[in-house]
Amino acid sequence: MNKAILLSTPHMSGKEQDYIREAFDTNWIAPLGINVTEFEQQIKQYTGAKAVCATSSGTASIHLALRLLEVGYGDMVFCSAFTFIASANPIKYLGADVTFIDSEPETWNMSPQALERALADAKKEQCLPKAVIIVHLYGQSAKMDELVTICESYGVPIIEDAAESLGSTYKGQQTGTFGDFGIFSFNGNKIITTSGGGALVAKDPAMIEKAIFLATQAKEEALHYQHEKIGYNYRMSNILAGIGRAQMEVLDNRIAARQANFRFYTEKCQHLQEVSMMPEFPNSVSNHWLSAIRLDVTKTGMTPYDVMERMQAYNIETRVLWKPLHLQPVFETMSFYKHEQGEEAVCERLFREGLCLPSGSNLTQTELEYVSAALENIFKENEQSEKSKGGDGKANLVETGTMALL
Ligand SMILES: *Cc1c(COP(=O)(O)O)cnc(C)c1O
Repeated sequence: MNKAILLSTPHMSGKEQDYIREAFDTNWIAPLGINVTEFEQQIKQYTGAKAVCATSSGTASIHLALRLLEVGYGDMVFCSAFTFIASANPIKYLGADVTFIDSEPETWNMSPQALERALADAKKEQCLPKAVIIVHLYGQSAKMDELVTICESYGVPIIEDAAESLGSTYKGQQTGTFGDFGIFSFNGNKIITTSGGGALVAKDPAMIEKAIFLATQAKEEALHYQHEKIGYNYRMSNILAGIGRAQMEVLDNRIAARQANFRFYTEKCQHLQEVSMMPEFPNSVSNHWLSAIRLDVTKTGMTPYDVMERMQAYNIETRVLWKPLHLQPVFETMSFYKHEQGEEAVCERLFREGLCLPSGSNLTQTELEYVSAALENIFKENEQSEKSKGGDGKANLVETGTMALL
């Protein structure tokens, strides 16, 4: 393999150019135009959301949702700890504080019991959060029945960060449509992409009208430029929405390919005692955006970083799981609620043990075989070098890195 095998790359269908050309031919380059309207319609139909606003990014969509819930300086917002930084950054844009909630082991997503404890404490102190941001990681839905019930009992609105889970379902319902707001991302590494972009969906269509208003500089209706609120420039361009239209047409196909990757790795890893796959929660269907594994670190003596480095020698890109946000220097002073008090936090353990494998919908069968063979080889080498010299297991790295596996 001389071509690098990457984690997750854009996968165009070929029809994207037609929609872009249409925009050029009619000179609907900007702003907005038919591609945006059609793309929003497709997302609405696909997810069953009540209303959709296409935006410049998933991050912008979270920012808009928080603004619409009137989050401001000194307010509190709760957020999953185990996620990408973009889930929480918009809270800081608005000058609010954040409390991070641990994961539970069955979905790797927000722990209902930790959320319950955090909300009970907040209620006692009379500072309930203005919103709870629930993330569906790597395509796996969180336990929405429990989480929705808890939030409703405290009257706190939900924003679902479904940036990674477009097309995933929980009890037959699309992720992103349970909360008051849901957001999707069409960044380059996501399940489908517009090269950069996002969408905000809401239960209340009036909220989406307000979102569109805020996303287009909050221009009031007047003969001159009139502004009574601070707005943003957050709408998706008509050119990028053209890419999105063609991508939505192949979304089911892209999901099927990523699910097949996950099944392939599951089968190949079955006999590797050191490896277990990310669990799939019953009654939910994951789009398997990324196939994540867990290593038995005590058994192998290898950390995910060691495996990542060795896979790199085979020209294969892997990535450790998200570093929990309460451990990030920018969020160091924020509070955190663990799944089980007195135990290691679930998300910290996952960060210590987990790794994402190449997961693109455009991976070939040969590439998948190569990845699993490399993984198997790494554990075999490790076992041998542990036996032979009780050393650091890195002795054979250079030779085997160039060895033909297939
Ligand atoms: C990608 C991602 C985002 C941000 O989306 P952008 O479109 O890149 O701004 C937010 N949350 C999660 C969980 C993501 O993976």
